[in-house]
Amino acid sequence: MLLLPFSSPVDFEHCVTCEAPEEGREAGHWFVFRGDQLLVEMGPLERPSDDLRVRARPAWARLPLQKNHNWLGRAAVRTLYLGRLRGIDCWMAELTAEAEAPGGLSWQSLRALFSVLEDAHFALAGRALQLLDWDRNHQFCGRCGTPTQAKREERVRVCPACKLSAYPRVAPAVMALIRREKQILLARSPHFPPGMFSALAGFVEPGESLEQCLAREVAEEVGVQISNTRYFASQPWPFPHSLMIAFVCDWKSGDIKPQAGEIEAANWFEVLQLPKLPSKISIARRLIDAVVEEVKSGTDV
Ligand SMILES: [Zn+2]
Repeated sequence: MLLLPFSSPVDFEHCVTCEAPEEGREAGHWFVFRGDQLLVEMGPLERPSDDLRVRARPAWARLPLQKNHNWLGRAAVRTLYLGRLRGIDCWMAELTAEAEAPGGLSWQSLRALFSVLEDAHFALAGRALQLLDWDRNHQFCGRCGTPTQAKREERVRVCPACKLSAYPRVAPAVMALIRREKQILLARSPHFPPGMFSALAGFVEPGESLEQCLAREVAEEVGVQISNTRYFASQPWPFPHSLMIAFVCDWKSGDIKPQAGEIEAANWFEVLQLPKLPSKISIARRLIDAVVEEVKSGTDV
């Protein structure tokens, strides 16, 4: 099974509650956020190559390990229990937007910590970011406005007046990489970094199967028809709560017609002449790399 960045670590035990911290308790990992920035202890900055255009990044980063459950004091807006990683308790907390980092620690954007923070910690940081966001957004009932209450044994906030339950939301989105003989179709949306192209993607609409969503998204965004859809892999994507489900498919018919406003450019690319691609943090890049290998080696994904 392909475990992509942000996928749950195999040695993580999902739990909702933890008994009140006792004396002599082992220190726990703390996932502390301010917006989408994570609180970490950072190693010295390093430049991964001699190229001055490549930004320096920390050699390593570590999560704070804390025994004292109240170490954040009044700065914590919310604190939730996440579960246990290799037997160590994991806590998550949100601080106010202007909160200063405690001594020796600093705020780093979660994306920038990919491959700098240990993989399991990076994945759980993504989970924590989504859960903090969910908790913040469901303090009041969406139907009647009454303050909601957390349930002890389950990750859900319930309205005491009308009983409406708010579970953490996951929004499925499909991704399609279309192959036509030795070429692949890549496109760019206006918000991509300059020069970057990627596979097509879009959110699933209510009442749609994944296959129907794929066919619709591809037809809308680039005007072509597809066939022979094959599942590739999926990836949790915590910005803010997506599940990316990636497929490879074959071109069936139609010329590329980029959708106005959504797709700035779309082209067939030879696998040996690819444009700038997304980072390896994303399933998009893994999908493109796999299909490029498939084309080069003459096999199928
Ligand atoms: Zn209600």
